[in-house]
Amino acid sequence: MNNEVTGYVLSVQEYKEHDAMIKFLSYDLGLLNLVLPGYYKANTKQSRLGLEFSNVTYTMNYRENRLNRIVGGQLNEGFFKQRDDYDWLIEASILSELVIKLYHQDNAHGIYDWYEAIINEKYRAKELCKMIYYFSKVHGITPNLSGCSICDSKAINSFSIRDAGFLCQIHSRVKDDKDELAFLYSLALDKDVKMSQEVYENVLNRLIQYISYYADLNIHSWKLKTRV
Ligand SMILES: [Zn+2]
Repeated sequence: MNNEVTGYVLSVQEYKEHDAMIKFLSYDLGLLNLVLPGYYKANTKQSRLGLEFSNVTYTMNYRENRLNRIVGGQLNEGFFKQRDDYDWLIEASILSELVIKLYHQDNAHGIYDWYEAIINEKYRAKELCKMIYYFSKVHGITPNLSGCSICDSKAINSFSIRDAGFLCQIHSRVKDDKDELAFLYSLALDKDVKMSQEVYENVLNRLIQYISYYADLNIHSWKLKTRV
């Protein structure tokens, strides 16, 4: 029996001769690998079902613990306007890579809601920071943001990736922007603060470096962003 599953296309890769392998984030079934048959054939009718970062409803005869094949479906939201915006594209890509690599079944609905909120957001850096901090907690690699990582002093001067957290004036090698440190601290407290977009974006860069280092990831889309 066929059923319908709605969610987001996180990535699309070639699979076998003309098929595509889709990483799909659904609310009901979590993160799935699905085959989209004939996607890479000329004149395919499936092109609207394999658009990265789009919201689609797939029809399939879903069975657990099996590689399921998509038999049909529809595109619900292609974000065609946003695709002209380079920042949206890069951040949607970072978001998708983070979910693919750090996904956790225990919070499947929460991760789905987060993805949906961020992809629809006008400015995404702040929420992406919160999400990375959340993933660091889930994977047991939270940075130490309660005091200096070395001596526990509360006179904080910088955030260090190598030392996995804040450093005091004595142990710092550099001095970081106060607002960036305050924003990082607010993540640990789970308290909302208002800072400039620049602060969110700078902290996002640091957190992507942090999570890449400690979760042994290679966030391809982030490299693209820093190269520009
Ligand atoms: Zn110290």
